[in-house]
Amino acid sequence: MPNIFAEILLDQNLAKRLDYSIPEEWKESSQVGMRVEVPLKGNLVKGTIAALKTRSSIPHVRPIARLLSTESELSDAQWALAHWMSRYYMTPLQRVLKCFIPPNVRKDVQAKTQVFLTLAISKEEALRECERLRTKAPQIASALEAALQWKKGCWAASFAKEENIPKKTIDQLIKQKIFASKKMALGTDLLLNEEFFLAKPKTLNDEQAKCLKAISQSLSTGVFASHLLHGVTGSGKTEIYLQAIQMALDQGKGAILLVPEVSLTSQTIERFRSRFLEKIAVLHHKRSLGERSHSWTLLRTGEIRIAVGARSAVFAPMKNLGLIIVDEEHDSSYKQSDEIPCYHARNIAVMRSHLEKAVVVLGSATPSIESRYNADIGKYQLHTLNARAASAKLPSIRIIDMKEVYLVNGGFTHFSGELIDAIQTRIQKGEQTLLFLNKRGYHRLQICAFCRNIVKCPHCDLALTFHKQEEELRCHLCSYQQKAIRKCPSCQSTDPLEFKGFGTEHVERSLHALFPSIRTLRMDRDTTHKKDSHEELFKQFRAHKADVLIGTQMIAKGFHFPSVTLVGVLNPDAMLHIPDFRSTESTFQLLTQVAGRSGRSELAGEVILQTFLPHHPIIQLAASQDYSSFYKTEIEERRMFGYPPFTHFIKILFTSNDLETATTAAHKAHAYLVPLLPLQATALAPSPSGHAKIKDLHRIQFLIKTPRIEPLIALLTELPSFGAQIKIDVDPLSTFF
Ligand code: ADP
Ligand code: ZN
Ligand code: ZN
Repeated sequence: MPNIFAEILLDQNLAKRLDYSIPEEWKESSQVGMRVEVPLKGNLVKGTIAALKTRSSIPHVRPIARLLSTESELSDAQWALAHWMSRYYMTPLQRVLKCFIPPNVRKDVQAKTQVFLTLAISKEEALRECERLRTKAPQIASALEAALQWKKGCWAASFAKEENIPKKTIDQLIKQKIFASKKMALGTDLLLNEEFFLAKPKTLNDEQAKCLKAISQSLSTGVFASHLLHGVTGSGKTEIYLQAIQMALDQGKGAILLVPEVSLTSQTIERFRSRFLEKIAVLHHKRSLGERSHSWTLLRTGEIRIAVGARSAVFAPMKNLGLIIVDEEHDSSYKQSDEIPCYHARNIAVMRSHLEKAVVVLGSATPSIESRYNADIGKYQLHTLNARAASAKLPSIRIIDMKEVYLVNGGFTHFSGELIDAIQTRIQKGEQTLLFLNKRGYHRLQICAFCRNIVKCPHCDLALTFHKQEEELRCHLCSYQQKAIRKCPSCQSTDPLEFKGFGTEHVERSLHALFPSIRTLRMDRDTTHKKDSHEELFKQFRAHKADVLIGTQMIAKGFHFPSVTLVGVLNPDAMLHIPDFRSTESTFQLLTQVAGRSGRSELAGEVILQTFLPHHPIIQLAASQDYSSFYKTEIEERRMFGYPPFTHFIKILFTSNDLETATTAAHKAHAYLVPLLPLQATALAPSPSGHAKIKDLHRIQFLIKTPRIEPLIALLTELPSFGAQIKIDVDPLSTFF
């Protein structure tokens, strides 16, 4: 019996699949994973075929109105991955499908294509042709003359408009094979066509060679394998990635490279482009819909075999996937927390490789505890690179006790004497300094001297930060801002409000007070909200337009500034005070990363770490750059308290405009779940989230701790929401926020 019915998953959030019949002419061609348009309540709506079947229990089934694809949008392995994701992350399948078929592809915004013209003959020939036609066909001649100015080519539309050339003439030139025309997505990155000087692969050192050999063996056996590459900063991990990708290409396979959001800069991209003759798709949420959809198509057809991108690039529709690399695998930007599915791209990379018999390589200078543990129990093959490649040495790290500095100084200062001297020396030698502080703005909060009320955002549970340049108070959770105030909003006292805590803006000003002629750049979310400003700041700093770059964690990762020889870390202590089981891990990682920015070339590097907790074990371990001791202590603690990787947390968040509704829902859900939980799972009591309110939504949550996810799936996907919005986050990054 032929399949005459299809189960359709509608894009709009309807959890149930609906049955439709397949019209005669499409019976042969229909496949699971095709996009369709179907009638629903008098409208046509879009969806995806989830299953085909020979009968339906519904009496009057309506037919599919239109097929939107010519083949399935997803391979069998991708379907399997989507189903796995839907279960593991407890998210309806159609929400998961959005990751695989991004909205732009769905809406059939088929990249607005336009005609791109190139010369099909050589410049010499064109010149001769031009002379020949000068009098016979002056219009064609002048078009040719204009075309001789092209670097690569030109969009037909702008050529016609700017050079005032009739469309008829262009068509004629195409017909005569003097111009070649190609349809390209508007906004296609023209860099794609730019030629780079091809850089040669480096001769690997012994540690690198051993690692690459293991990866190469996995690639050639064509079965799933997972590698964890633990290499100190600057040890040449990227060099291994590049050579591994080449090996995959040589075998006719495709490769995906994931990098953290902030590392997706032109510096990184150029490094990749300069190594491969073929095109690379850069998948970036900042790109226009058209561009993304265009890359997606080229990847699907196999025309492009390398994809580089942040988190969502793990879904790149590669043909014949051979290799997925997750650079800085510990990076928190790989986890999607703000919307469902709350997936972790590293987990998806491993699962996808498993399903597609590909090789996955996770690389980091500070592997996540989970991944390192997976290497311990033999799930991942571990490789270590202990030394920096080339001639660079790891920087030396000095801890400065700020309590003593305050004593000597008679009060607050940003800079210890050691740091001031060190900056001074760099300025004299023409070397550069990075100053890292995990807080932007000028003052962290404003407090009433009379009633001790802290001035908070009216929409969020967060103190407003004072920004001096604009004389404004801003909320760092929502976009709220207001003019700085003089009167306490709570008790109306007109006593001057006190300012507390300092951010990057304050550090920059204080630095100028100390060194009047110093040139500084500041990089945080305030200075980088414009498109490309991030990129621009890095360019300026690399071009040595400043002596010091002051920034938040944005400056901590992945960058390579050869003349940075000093990194100053100002007050890393706040991170350690966050009540979360991961806060020690993330502090250690961040400190190691930021220290790793120093001394990346022949020039020796130094790091000065200013803290009020000089004896804190994490500060000590970060200073000695002792990952293995850090791991040993941390994993023992996790084992003792039954924290991940020994158990899973599941965070269930209830939100509502009304505090009462959110609280009641959380308590009701909690009471409903407790008696139904499997034996080893426990539910912790509901409490307000670390940010109890964001954008007027109150947030009440509770955690479930369980050794296994599987037994909870049915129970939690069916969990009633009791009048609030509900969000399930499996393996949350933070149990607090
Ligand atoms: P990581 O990714 O571990 O931070 P990179 O791959 O960026 O390290 O390497 C750091 C620097 O060392 C780069 O400038 C790179 O070109 C250089 N490098 C890497 N491997 C080698 C090698 N085998 N020989 C010489 N230089 C190397
Ligand atoms: Zn007050
Ligand atoms: Zn706010």
